[in-house]
Order: sequence, then structure tokens, then C-alpha cells
Amino acid sequence: MSIKSVEFVMSPSEPHFVGDGFRVHTFIPSSYRLDMHRMDPIIMMDYNSKHYFEPSNTPKGVGVHPHRGFETVTIAYKGKVEHHDSSGGGGIIGEGDVQWMTAASGVLHKEFHEKEWSKKGGEFQMVQLWVNLPAKDKMSAPKYQSIENTSMSKVNIENGIIEIIAGEYQGIKGTANTFTPLHLYNARLKQGANAHFSFPAHYNTALLVIEGSIIVNNEHKAPLDHFVLMGNVGENFEITAQEDSVVLVLSGEPINETIVAHGPFVMNTKQEIIEAFNDFNQGKFGYLED
Ligand code: MN
Repeated sequence: MSIKSVEFVMSPSEPHFVGDGFRVHTFIPSSYRLDMHRMDPIIMMDYNSKHYFEPSNTPKGVGVHPHRGFETVTIAYKGKVEHHDSSGGGGIIGEGDVQWMTAASGVLHKEFHEKEWSKKGGEFQMVQLWVNLPAKDKMSAPKYQSIENTSMSKVNIENGIIEIIAGEYQGIKGTANTFTPLHLYNARLKQGANAHFSFPAHYNTALLVIEGSIIVNNEHKAPLDHFVLMGNVGENFEITAQEDSVVLVLSGEPINETIVAHGPFVMNTKQEIIEAFNDFNQGKFGYLED
């Protein structure tokens, strides 16, 4: 076992709005060094860094839209999000909770600030990932997993806690069911804490600094809101919290299939994208009220 290297530390790009409720920095895909393949099976990452939303009686967010071919994973750090989809899935997630929506063969969904939270307004912070599905599972049935923080598996380390959203850490399994091997943790670390991680060299691995600031492998400084891409060499690395910190840790086995993405659809071929548009236009994604 050898040290997993740091490939680069990346600062957040200029934010843009998704609908009127999500002010995000898109880390994946974001440049030639981070295309949709580089973090396969994670093909998209939008990060709403801390942003204050004024009180609003009309919840802000994104109206009804389709997805096919992958999963959307939303991790709430501040604020509350309400989700509804045409397969009947839905729920409210708040601080520390995760919603894992498998669009697969296709759903319509909408994503808004939760009504009561919206009336008060406040600081909002969230991550949304798109996790790709292998070709054999792209047309499977949609499903919805609500993962509340209280039900999440947790491992205590010295001066910190590792919340296991998916995959496993030190033999403890996470809560979410995934289609391909994927580890997703929140490392909540007190100042000075040292957390150790080990993933196979070929797993695509990255970190996002949600709170505080860290040093990776005693060498690479990663401030707040920065993204750290780990190299595909070596297995082991460590992060040291320079102050109280929260770090999202992502590592997955690449699916290594062709990716043809168009808007809300991610398939393997152009023909499948055309079919997705046809099915959507023919109402085959079901119905969801605005
Ligand atoms: Mn969506």
C-alpha cells in the first residue's frame, strides 16, 4: 500500500443559478482536467457554497424537469430542500440529511426550498451529485432513498466523526444502496484531527471542503470551498483539520462506459438520447403537478 497523491487543488468557479434557488459552483464537469469521465461514476457536481436567501413566501428552486440514466444525490449542509417526483418519491431534507433519487428509466421531479424554511430565509449550503448508472441499469425502475442524519452510520475517530452516506469506512457500511461501488462520507473534524482513508488506486477520488480548511498528506493546503482531486496512484491518504472542518469525501469505481449527455439525460449512445426526448415528449415520464 502506498500514498495516494494529490493531483490538484481547485478553487470554486464563478457561481451561477440553477432555477432561482440554487447558487452553485460547478466543479464537475468544469475544465479539460475534470470532464464527465474524470470522476466517473460521479459525472456532475454542483456546490451551493454558503449563501443567504432572503425570506420568501414563494419557495425558490427548480420546477418540474425530467431525468434519465443516472441518480441525483443531494446533500444538505444548511437550509432545507423539498423534493417530489413522478414515481411518488419525495420528502424534505434538512441539515446533515441526504436524498438519493434514482431517475434510471425516467422521472419528472422538482426541487425547492422547503416552504417554512423559505418564509424565514437563511443560510443555504448544499451539494448535488449526479451518479452515473451502468448501461445495464439505466432503464431500471426509479426509486427514492431518504437518508436522515440520525439514521446514518457513523464511525468515531480521534477528534472527529466519519458519517458514511454510502460505501463503507473501517468495515462499517453506509446507509445508501448503490448500483456500483461508491464511498461517500462526511468527515466532521475538530481542529487538529487527523483522518485516514484508503481506496483502491483506480477508484476516482476527490474531497470538497465544506467547512474550515485542511491539509492533505501533510503537504497540500485546501481552504474552504476548495475541491481536491486525488491521483489514481496509491491508496492511502490523510487529511488534517487546521480548524474545525467538514469534508465531503468521494471515491468510486469507474464504470468505464461511453457517456452521451444531453441536458437532463445521460445515456451511452446518441440514439438513446433521441429516445429519451421522444419518450419525454410522449409523456412516458409520468406526470407531476407544477
Ligand atoms: Mn433535477
